[in-house]
Amino acid sequence: MKNAASLFGRYVFNDRKMQERLPKATYKALQKTIQNGEPLDLNVANVVANAMKDWAVEMGCTHYTHWFQPMTGVTAEKHDSFITPSGNGEVIMEFSGKELIKGEPDASSFPSGGIRATFEARGYTTWDPTSPAFIRDGTLYIPTAFCSYTGEVLDKKTPLLRSMERLSSQAVKVLNLLGKTDVKRVTTTVGPEQEYFLIDKTMYDKRPDLIYTGRTLFGAMAPKGQELEDHYFGSIKTRVAEYMRDLDTELWELGVYAKTKHNEVAPSQHELAPIFTTSNIATDHNELCMEVMKKTAEKHGLVCLLHEKPFAGVNGSGKHNNWSISTDSGENLLDPGKNPEDNLQFLLFLAAVVKAVDEYQDLLRITVASAGNDHRLGANEAPPAIISMYLGDDLGALVESIIEGKDYKSHKAARMETGVDALPDFKKDNSDRNRTSPFAFTGNKFEFRALGSSLNIACPNYMLNTMVAEELSEFYEALKDSSDLESDLRALVKKAFTEHQRIIFNGDNYSDEWVEEAEKRGLCNYKSLPEAMEHYIDKKNVDLFTSNGIVTEAEIHARYEIELEQYSKLLNIEALTMLDMAKKNIAPAVMAFAKELAQGVELKKSVSSSLSTFAEEKLLQNLSDLLEKFVKKTDELESAVKAAAEHTDNLDRAKYYRNTVFALMNELRELGDSMETETSAEYWPYPSYGEILFGV
Ligand code: ADP
Ligand code: MG
Repeated sequence: MKNAASLFGRYVFNDRKMQERLPKATYKALQKTIQNGEPLDLNVANVVANAMKDWAVEMGCTHYTHWFQPMTGVTAEKHDSFITPSGNGEVIMEFSGKELIKGEPDASSFPSGGIRATFEARGYTTWDPTSPAFIRDGTLYIPTAFCSYTGEVLDKKTPLLRSMERLSSQAVKVLNLLGKTDVKRVTTTVGPEQEYFLIDKTMYDKRPDLIYTGRTLFGAMAPKGQELEDHYFGSIKTRVAEYMRDLDTELWELGVYAKTKHNEVAPSQHELAPIFTTSNIATDHNELCMEVMKKTAEKHGLVCLLHEKPFAGVNGSGKHNNWSISTDSGENLLDPGKNPEDNLQFLLFLAAVVKAVDEYQDLLRITVASAGNDHRLGANEAPPAIISMYLGDDLGALVESIIEGKDYKSHKAARMETGVDALPDFKKDNSDRNRTSPFAFTGNKFEFRALGSSLNIACPNYMLNTMVAEELSEFYEALKDSSDLESDLRALVKKAFTEHQRIIFNGDNYSDEWVEEAEKRGLCNYKSLPEAMEHYIDKKNVDLFTSNGIVTEAEIHARYEIELEQYSKLLNIEALTMLDMAKKNIAPAVMAFAKELAQGVELKKSVSSSLSTFAEEKLLQNLSDLLEKFVKKTDELESAVKAAAEHTDNLDRAKYYRNTVFALMNELRELGDSMETETSAEYWPYPSYGEILFGV
């Protein structure tokens, strides 16, 4: 393999290439836009477009595409070639500033939640200069935002960019008030840890459930699962290691800071974590990362599953959203420093996060809700559906002392003594980890752990940014005219911690006691997407987004409808796939095996009446009973799916899918899985969990 440093960013129109290829004035103007969000001039765009095109053509590109993140949950692209007729029957390669800045995909074919009629087709994509353009498969990709002709936001990037601006402006006001007048801009940073499964393509191809829904809808547990805890951080198999090496190379070439890779808890499960960067670039990179993961798998005869719960009974996949805030001078505002008790600036930002997470705990729950993630949250493996935060021993004790008005002295970090002379001693972290907390403080950042593996991280991040921006703006208003800033600030911090201490929980989030305790504290516990989504349009949430200028009320309602509609559609696809598998393959397979058993009985009897037919008859009886129930349940599910059409309201329909259709699917699955354990492998139409999970 080539030197990683020389590969890094090879396919990215990054800062170094801009410096090399752009006239100084253009480069400077573009930097002002990238660093300070200043509007961009068309003349500048023209020069940038031409330089980008020259570079892309040198790299073998023929096309460019605006790359955007509509509400479908996946990215979208429409490729145009650079060719322009030159008048003499030939072509030249051209790319104008106008083409760089604006694209016009048809907006009517993307989800709009009813704010657009199909005849209102026009939509625009707009270049996002803060995320660098890159090359994939002979095409120049330009990260863009997406809106409709009349300006409604139809994507995930726009609210994220707006929330970053909003947080920046509010944080800067607060910092200036505290005397940091040199701070001009504040950025949110994100490092998303991505989990995934890797399985053999030949197994995948035999499973319609994986093909249509990304998860197994039937499948009895293998004799071995994750109980030996031998996969997590286990040594990586050669085939997987080769995949990971390829993946790293591809990601590095695309400028993604892929850093850590290891095996995860479940068999066939792995993780990749990049080094953090700005929320916007981290989001684009995570989308890119998920795409590259899938494509690279194909080259290795593998399939990368990003579904939150591909296999029942073993851990599903999530994504940890590590989040922090830092200033343009590089100061991490969530770093407590050596003496957090005297670090009023830190305490103020901490208080803002604590207050935000408590007041908008429902939104944090809503933003990670998806049909796939419903299988994880609250199911004893991922964080629970109840949002709470973990501050660790030291910070927890500090907050408590502030609430109680007592003195506090922070502990010096202890040394870890290994007791072996040859092993170096080292400084211990100030607090242990709490793996069960959905929102944990980890030294100088918060780790939001409730995200599903396939989620676009723009959504949780724009919610997080917006709610913290809101608290900062309230804090600023409360402090701006203060004549004794220090004591007013201390009082404000104390008030925030006191009023919102219910959101802090350092214990085991998986325990039943916590569910009871959380209820007493009045924390919300929304177990499924429909239950959670209902609260998306609560007045306080609508007010938050509209007053901070992130999305309009109509856009929030549209997003609400889209989420609910997609949920019902996904469950409908799952139910139809199940019916198909049940009727076309599973029932016939069991019937064929039962027939063989019955014929076996007959045959034995014809040879000699003294031969025992006990085994065949017992199995036959058992299977016939199960099959009868299975076929009846299949009918029930089929009728239930048909009846879904009666529910016309999106919320009502989503609830129906959850409470009726999904419940029947689980019952049908249980019967199917029982039959699988009793049926000869020769007859069973699908690869088993054992073959899939241990097949790579
Ligand atoms: P762990 O979760 O084991 O503590 P790391 O400390 O390496 O692992 O961090 C996990 C992720 O958090 C990485 O993607 C890392 O880049 C990211 N991270 C570290 N510092 C920050 C920060 N200030 N802002 C956002 N993400 C961060
Ligand atoms: Mg982590």
